[in-house]
Amino acid sequence: MRKIKERTRFGLLIAALIFIGIGAGILYGAQRLIIDARSVAHTNAVMAALDEMEARLRDAESAQRGYLLTGRVEYLVDYHGSREHVPALVDRIATLVADNPIQTRRARALRAHTELRLHQMANTLLRYGSDGLVGARASMGSDVLQTSSAIRRIKAQMVSDERLLLERRATSTGYSANVLRALAVLGIPLGLTVILSVYVLLVREIARRSEAEAAARDVQARLREGNAELEHKSADLRALSRYGGMLQGCVDPQEALQLTSRLLSTLRPGTAGTIYRMRNSQDYAEAAIHWGRHSATSAESLLPEACWALRRNQPNLSPDAAHSHCPHVSGVQHDGVATACVPLMAQGAQIGLLYLSDDDDGFLARMDIIEAAAEQLSMALSNLSLRERLQLQSIREPLTGLFNRRYLEESATRELARCARRDLPLSLMMLDVDHFKAFNDVHGHAGGDAVLAQFGKLLAEHSRGEDIACRYGGEEFTLILPEAPPAAALQRAEAIRSAVEAMRVQHMGHDLPPVTVSIGVASFPADGNTPDALLRVADAALYRAKHNGRNCVEPARAH
Ligand code: GH3
Ligand code: MG
Ligand code: MG
Repeated sequence: MRKIKERTRFGLLIAALIFIGIGAGILYGAQRLIIDARSVAHTNAVMAALDEMEARLRDAESAQRGYLLTGRVEYLVDYHGSREHVPALVDRIATLVADNPIQTRRARALRAHTELRLHQMANTLLRYGSDGLVGARASMGSDVLQTSSAIRRIKAQMVSDERLLLERRATSTGYSANVLRALAVLGIPLGLTVILSVYVLLVREIARRSEAEAAARDVQARLREGNAELEHKSADLRALSRYGGMLQGCVDPQEALQLTSRLLSTLRPGTAGTIYRMRNSQDYAEAAIHWGRHSATSAESLLPEACWALRRNQPNLSPDAAHSHCPHVSGVQHDGVATACVPLMAQGAQIGLLYLSDDDDGFLARMDIIEAAAEQLSMALSNLSLRERLQLQSIREPLTGLFNRRYLEESATRELARCARRDLPLSLMMLDVDHFKAFNDVHGHAGGDAVLAQFGKLLAEHSRGEDIACRYGGEEFTLILPEAPPAAALQRAEAIRSAVEAMRVQHMGHDLPPVTVSIGVASFPADGNTPDALLRVADAALYRAKHNGRNCVEPARAH
């Protein structure tokens, strides 16, 4: 950059110097030409003055001769007219050659000889006046001839010198013209070449700069894009972290699925989605939630083999679903439709599938965030089902699958309050397996457990949706019958008793002997209005049933 600047400056300086040189040369050449022209004019003036002086002298001589021969006065007038010019012409010649010492010396000699010649001519006329033609002839002696030839000689010398000067000046003029020509022929192309070089240099520099600017603009555009992408990503990450926080607050899987559908439809507004949940049996996945309108529909339920993502336990992306897609996908609407399947995994087990489709493959570029959301959803679903299981475990007891005693107490209070509020009855029965100690003794604890498990099932089967069947403890059970009056409760108790009697239990490959059950029944409001009072009354009735020979139903009181 700096180098280019220096080279440009240097080039322009050289060009300026060349043109200043050309200008100076032209000025010098023109000056020389003017001087030469002036000198030529000067030389010509000297020569013209010499010629005129000689001509006037000759004219005077010839007029004098005419007068002498004819005696006519007109000749005399001509004679005077010509001779009076001669001294002035000689003066003019002396002035013109004043700058040349040799010529000045000659001019002085010329003056002396012309004055002498004029004097001789005047003398001849005087002699003519006094002695006539003979006197005049006598006055024209050899000295007249000498003076005339001296004048001719001096003039010839002066003319020859002036010619020499003229030649010299012509040579100098030729030299000046050559200098000017050389300046024009060499200097101008040289200057132009330098300017052209500077121009090329500048053009290249401008091109290089505009390239650099374009590159800088490109970099800036990429930076802007990168920033926008970063902002987008950070907004996505913020949404994802908010989503993660809210997932933890979800109380059931459906809530988590709704939250996920909201997140994904916000992140990718045009992309439709479906979340499948794996059935507990792991044999197929069922659609649990949908959002948006699919560009390629997917089956409502699907076998794991029908999805490449579930087969390979990793996301399966189809940027061009019209030509390749998972077997469970159908109805691809047009070319360019893209689909994605992301398996939902928790602790190495498949718990579901996230399926997405869109008119174009834009959303595939955002799969990192989508997969992160799927991962969080998997964790949340797994946690929720674990919590569900734990919750079940906390209110149910494992051997019979019935509610435990803590749940019995909670629900008895709740149901009693509900029925009391609505002025409805509520019945409750206590059940106790007869002679179970002896049964255990004969068939072992495991055999007893098998009977208790079967008994639990039977009790559940004889319960309506709103009934609450509980294991009270050991081989004692409680059944709460909300809204059931005493008579209905007694009927149900009797049905249970006879079903137990008919119940057959297999254990270790052989049938166990049948067992019987004794049941005491109490009802709200007749037998009490608190759970404790009702349980106490029912227990008392059960005791009576045992006392009455077992395998029977005893009401709290005779209704
Ligand atoms: P009855 O009620 O007819 O008066 O006689 P019973 O022998 O059933 O009386 P009791 O209440 O004294 O005995 C209850 C027995 O039930 C004692 C215990 O061995 C047995 N039992 C309690 N809980 C379990 C259990 O979880 N599994 C098994 N196998 N037996 C249990
Ligand atoms: Mg007992
Ligand atoms: Mg018993």
